[in-house]
Amino acid sequence: MKAFDIVAYTYEAEILCPACLIGRLVHEGKVPDVDDPAETVLDIHAAFEHVDRQDESTFDSDDFPKVVFASQVEDGESCGECEEAL
Ligand SMILES: [Zn+2]
Repeated sequence: MKAFDIVAYTYEAEILCPACLIGRLVHEGKVPDVDDPAETVLDIHAAFEHVDRQDESTFDSDDFPKVVFASQVEDGESCGECEEAL
């Protein structure tokens, strides 16, 4: 795994793996239930919400997920929902 691989997202004060993050957004009715990769779904969602994903200081992770790179994950950290290791 590369340091800049996206392994999880921070959203609503939780760290979620990509599958759980998308599941959460689908459950909240924010994104359609599609098979696209998480990053594709988020890019489209961001465009609708007028969120600038390139500058994460412009939004709050309560409102829109922020990426967690492999290099930012601590040993033993796991998804807040499925508890899978990140
Ligand atoms: Zn998960």
